Amino acid sequence: MGKRKKAAKKPTGPKKNEPLPTVFPCLFCNHEKSVTVKVDKKAGVGHLTCKVCSQQFQCAVNYLSMPVDVYSDWVDACDAVAKEDGEERAADLAPSRAPAAGRPKAGRAATEEEDDDIIDDGSDGMGGYGGEGVVADDEY
Ligand SMILES: [Zn+2]
Repeated sequence: MGKRKKAAKKPTGPKKNEPLPTVFPCLFCNHEKSVTVKVDKKAGVGHLTCKVCSQQFQCAVNYLSMPVDVYSDWVDACDAVAKEDGEERAADLAPSRAPAAGRPKAGRAATEEEDDDIIDDGSDGMGGYGGEGVVADDEY
C-alpha cells in the first residue's frame, strides 16, 4: 500500500534543488495552485487545504511521504467516493446475473440423467439378452 512509481520525473535529473511542489490544483473548485499541502512527518499526518473553496483533507503519512503523495491520496479518496456511487448502481444488475448462470446447469444435469437411462436400456437390449431388459422395465 502506498508505493507509487513516478515515471515522469526523470528529464531534469535529480541534481536540481527545486523545492518539492506543495501547491496543486483543486478537484472541487478547479482553481490552479489553490491547494496547499503540508506534511507533518513527526505527527505522521498529511494535511491539505484549498484556500479558495476551503476543502480539507487529512491522511496518514510516513517519513518518505511527500506533499504530492498526500495530494494523490486526496485524489484517490475522491475517486473512491465517485466509484461507490457507481457500484451501487452496478449492484442492481449483478444479482440477476449470478443465479441465472446456475439454473441452466441444474436443468441440463437432470436431462442428462434421463438420457443415460434410455441409453442403458438400449445397450442391454443389444447385449444379447434380447427383450428381457425391456420387459423388466415395462413391469416397473
Ligand atoms: Zn478548491
